[in-house]
Amino acid sequence: MAHASKKPLLILGGGLIGLSLAHALAHKGRSVEVLSKRRNEAAGFVAAGMLAPHAEGLKGNLLRLGQLSLKQIPKWVEKIEADSGISCGLRQCGIVVPFLNIEDRDIYPTSSLGESLNHKELNEQIPGIHSQWQSGILFKKDGQIDNRRRLMRALEKACVGLGVRFQEGIEVLEILNNKKVFEGVYIRTAEGQIQSLPANEAILCSGAWSNYLLNALPVFPVKGQMFSIQGPKDVLKRILFGPGTYLVPREDGLIVVGATTEKHAGFEEGLTPYGQSQLQAGLNSLLPIASSWPRMERWWGFRPCTPDEGPILGQSSLKGLWLATGHHRNGVLLSAITAELLAKSICKESLSAEENSLLQAFNWNRFQSQ
Ligand SMILES: Cc1cc2nc3c(=O)[nH]c(=O)nc-3n(C[C@H](O)[C@H](O)[C@H](O)COP(=O)(O)OP(=O)(O)OC[C@H]3O[C@@H](n4cnc5c(N)ncnc54)[C@H](O)[C@@H]3O)c2cc1C
Repeated sequence: MAHASKKPLLILGGGLIGLSLAHALAHKGRSVEVLSKRRNEAAGFVAAGMLAPHAEGLKGNLLRLGQLSLKQIPKWVEKIEADSGISCGLRQCGIVVPFLNIEDRDIYPTSSLGESLNHKELNEQIPGIHSQWQSGILFKKDGQIDNRRRLMRALEKACVGLGVRFQEGIEVLEILNNKKVFEGVYIRTAEGQIQSLPANEAILCSGAWSNYLLNALPVFPVKGQMFSIQGPKDVLKRILFGPGTYLVPREDGLIVVGATTEKHAGFEEGLTPYGQSQLQAGLNSLLPIASSWPRMERWWGFRPCTPDEGPILGQSSLKGLWLATGHHRNGVLLSAITAELLAKSICKESLSAEENSLLQAFNWNRFQSQ
C-alpha cells in the first residue's frame, strides 16, 4: 500500500541496520531513500556474523531482545533470499564456549540455557581443541550468517528490487530541525556540494559515527580486527567461542577468526601487528591444528558501542527522527528485531506488550540521568 507522504523517509547510513530498515519499510509500502557515506566502511561488512545471544552471555533485556531476534531470523532471511535470489549463508551450527575449569563454566551468565560438556564431550564437539580446555557449554540454537560475503549484498539487491533509492558517497553533515520537529538534513554530495534535503522523517543509523550527527547520543567506536583462514571443509562444525578469540566456520571451510576489542583506538584505521598477533595467539590457544592453515584476508572495523552496550532504538526527542544505533557487538543478531520494531512503530502498527517493553528499555533517554 503506497503511503500518502510525498517525501521519502531518509535512512541516514547504509550499513547493516540501515539496509535492514530500508528493506522492512519498503515491504510496508514506504518510499525510502538511503544516504550512505562509504559502503565498505560499514561494520556490516566486517562482522563475524555470529548469532549468539547465549554464547555472548547476554543478560536481562539485551538477552530478551537477542533471543527474540534469533527466533525471527530464519523468516527474515527467507524474505531477503526470496527478494534478492542470493543465499545468505544462515547456519544454525551451534556455538561451543570452552572453559579452563568447571567452576568458570557454572558461573557463565547463560550456563543454564546451554548443554554442559565434560572434557570428553568437548573433544567430541571440537576435535583438535587445545588440551587446556577442560569443559564447555554447547548453545545449539546459536549460529551464524555470512554477512560479509552474502547478507549485505542480498539486502542491497532486495532493497533495489523493492524500489529503495540509494545515494552513495553522500555524507550527512547536519540534522535540520526547529528544536521540536525534524525538518531534513544538510548533505555533502559525492561531488563536494553542500545541499539541504528537506524531509519529514528519517532514521539515524550511522553506526559508530552516529554521535557526529546527534551529540546527545553516547555512541563511540570500538575497533575490531579480524582475519580468515582456509581450513578443510567441515573440519570445524560448530563455532568455537573462546575468551577474546572466536572461530566461525563458513560452509566452504573458510574460518573467520575474530576479533580484537580496542576501546581506545577511536577511528584509527588499519591493522596493527599487536592486534594481529593477539588473534594469532588466540587461534593457537583454541585450535592448534589451525595455526598452519593458509591465511586468506585481514580486515578491521568499528563497532557502535554505548555505555551499557545495548542499542538505542525508537523515537528521538525530535518528532519525525527515529534512532537505530549502538548495536555494538550484536548488530547482526539484532538486525531482524531492529527492523521489525522500528518499521512497525514508524508505520503506526500495533506492537505486542513485549515489543513495547523492549522499545522502552532501549530508548535513548535511559542515558539522560547518567
Ligand atoms: C570486528 C567486528 C566483529 C563483529 N562481529 C559481530 C558478530 O559476530 N555478530 C553480531 O551480531 N555483530 C557483530 N558485530 C557488530 C555489527 O557488525 C554491528 O553492530 C552492525 O554492523 C552495526 O550496524 P550499523 O548499520 O549500525 O553500522 P554500520 O554497519 O557500521 O553502518 C554504518 C554506515 O553509516 C555510514 N555513515 C556514517 N556516518 C554517516 C553520515 N554522516 N552520512 C552518511 N552515512 C554515514 C557509514 O559509512 C556506514 O556505511 C561485529 C562488529 C565488528 C566491528
